[in-house]
Amino acid sequence: MTGKVYLVGSGPGDPDLLTVKAKRLIDEADVVLHDKLPGPEILGSIPEAKREDVGKRADGERTSQEYTNRRLVELAEAGNTVVRLKGGDPFVFGRGGEEAEHLAANEIPFEYVPGITSAVAGPGVAGVPVTHRDHASSVTFVTGHEDPTKDESAVDWEALAATGGTLVVLMGVGKLPMYTDALLSAGMAPDTPVALVERATWPDQQVAVGTLETIVDVRDEESIEPPAITVIGGVAASRERVAAFLRNGRNPADER
Ligand code: SAH
Repeated sequence: MTGKVYLVGSGPGDPDLLTVKAKRLIDEADVVLHDKLPGPEILGSIPEAKREDVGKRADGERTSQEYTNRRLVELAEAGNTVVRLKGGDPFVFGRGGEEAEHLAANEIPFEYVPGITSAVAGPGVAGVPVTHRDHASSVTFVTGHEDPTKDESAVDWEALAATGGTLVVLMGVGKLPMYTDALLSAGMAPDTPVALVERATWPDQQVAVGTLETIVDVRDEESIEPPAITVIGGVAASRERVAAFLRNGRNPADER
């Protein structure tokens, strides 16, 4: 009998932020296919025997999406209950949409299990609400992975600069200089607050703040590395008003 695939969001990494359903499915699964994004604590809590890493391989190469797709179908066809565990929410820049389509095309039963996306929780744990009555009435989630100088870039930074709302950039550490330049050229104020949140809710979470003009230097000085969220807009300034009082387990202001 064909098994079933669960496309499960792990949340940003703190095991307490797994949904009750995600936790139950992980416990009951025959196989958990994952990459590194769910973080060391969640992955460390899953028995090695049922984990399969489809992220970076030992030789540094990335496992191809084709391989992951094929493996999901193969495991389900062999009758397994499979959890495809993805960081944050499976359908936010996680290629979950492609995997769902592939499963549907192969007539494999599957279910989507939402997770808390780092696009909202990342800024939040740093004291940055993605919307705010006084500062932002819209929020845009955007990939920072594309090179904005390329003609075929699918991201229109000029249009994004004009929204006046919050911009949350995922996969945006490496190309930070390119899109901050693009936003400045499009007329966004150089003193627009920007925050970088690395490994949000992981034990070694790191937050760095600056402005559109200074954030590249801040990134280098503070050695911010992926995975990190970039949050751009007036809301980023609220961190300084609330951070000292925030009590998330992983807030840097927390004594824990
Ligand atoms: N599906 C995921 C996003 C996958 S894209 C989600 O909903 O969160 C990968 C990008 O997500 C990373 O480059 C980084 O920008 C962001 N990301 C995921 N987890 C993160 C975390 N714990 N802290 C900071 N950024 C994170």
